[in-house]
Amino acid sequence: MYWDKKHETMPRPDLEILQLERLRETLSVALNSPFYRERLTQAGVTPESLSNLEDARKIPFTTKDDLRSQGQALLTRPLEEMVRLHASSGTTGQATVIYYTRGDIETWAELLARSMYMTGMRPTDVFQNMMGYGLFTGGLGFHYGAERLGALTIPAGAGNSRRQVQLMQQFNTTALHIIPSYALYLLATFESMGVDPRDLPLRLAFIGAEPHTGDVRRRIEEAYGLKAYNSYGLSELNGPGVAFECPEQNGLHLWEDHFLLEVIDPRTLEPLSPGEVGEVVLTNLSRRGMPVLRYRTRDLAAVEPGTCPCGRSHRRISRIQGRTDDMLILKGVNIFPMQIEKVLLAMPEVGTNYLVELSRKNFNDLMLVKVEVQQEFFQEDLKYLKSLQKKITNALKSELLVTPLVELVEPMTLPRSEGKALRIMDLRDK
Ligand code: ADP
Ligand code: ZN
Repeated sequence: MYWDKKHETMPRPDLEILQLERLRETLSVALNSPFYRERLTQAGVTPESLSNLEDARKIPFTTKDDLRSQGQALLTRPLEEMVRLHASSGTTGQATVIYYTRGDIETWAELLARSMYMTGMRPTDVFQNMMGYGLFTGGLGFHYGAERLGALTIPAGAGNSRRQVQLMQQFNTTALHIIPSYALYLLATFESMGVDPRDLPLRLAFIGAEPHTGDVRRRIEEAYGLKAYNSYGLSELNGPGVAFECPEQNGLHLWEDHFLLEVIDPRTLEPLSPGEVGEVVLTNLSRRGMPVLRYRTRDLAAVEPGTCPCGRSHRRISRIQGRTDDMLILKGVNIFPMQIEKVLLAMPEVGTNYLVELSRKNFNDLMLVKVEVQQEFFQEDLKYLKSLQKKITNALKSELLVTPLVELVEPMTLPRSEGKALRIMDLRDK
């Protein structure tokens, strides 16, 4: 049931002792990097000055801009001791680069093996990794983890939809790693090939890399006939394998023996209590080549209160609700894209894709929501479509407090992405 019982079920007091030990160790390693030597010296923080985990708050935050502007100044050892680099996909601007030692790659693989094993994946499974194998951490990260676990690993990569289906058929794939929006998109390919995914031996899917709602998960589980587990990570903290769902599917266990977790109010920077949504701040506790301290992820989530019946002592975070930097301001109202998805995907008439276009006309902000309708509903008469349009408009209005324009479009007509979905187009002048 456990990949690493000792660490996964470690009683909290012991886990916290281990965290403090590893935090001090990480700090002394980080002091070898020009960037942290200066930062920590300025702040007067030394490994000895940390007498408990609360003291971690003395450590200055690290931001994405620090990583971009400082680059190799974060390395704790000479470049020749690094064996790999990855870069973030650059969702929000210029990419950030992360370097790994051989040991770092092994620790990372161990975390992914632990995560997948937790969901029930075993060496007898056939694992199809449908993520980009490049600078993006999703591909190679899971690949090494699945091999470490011992599953037969198919390095399918992203895209090439018909081939993905053929690989599943040919090798009897049982487990998938797939971006949730792509999992929905792929259903049309199954349909055009006359294949029902429920007839395949698929039983597990790991979905992550982009925010998605519980309704998206439910749709994937039903259409594919499997259990889908939320997987969270970011390249700045290795990549995937930071937090992962267990079979209870009640939040994501954040691996606290490798990461120090804080959730803060992004404005006041004060710590929040369990259940309160704020910005996730993470510190590497085991990476040695390029540890990052108190990294402001910009991801919004809450710590789930209570303990998990699975017996793991690591705290759980909620699904990611959005990013501090993806908040839209429309007519002075704050809107998170996930609010829009929550409303749309809860409706059975709505298909698998939507696009939000923001524009400005006569100094007025306009929001146009283009929604693909499920095929079976699209053939209805005009009167029906009008009332559906109204229903969607009203539902969005009551969630967002602004009234969008809603346009219903035919299935499979909106642009698709094989990587992370692009849902928002902001055409307003900045
Ligand atoms: P980029 O910042 O360029 O997208 P990454 O490829 O490292 O870089 O992506 C990490 C980000 O992807 C996270 O910070 C988070 O915003 C998002 N993400 C990853 N996994 C999930 C998940 N399971 N749910 C929601 N968002 C996720
Ligand atoms: Zn659990």
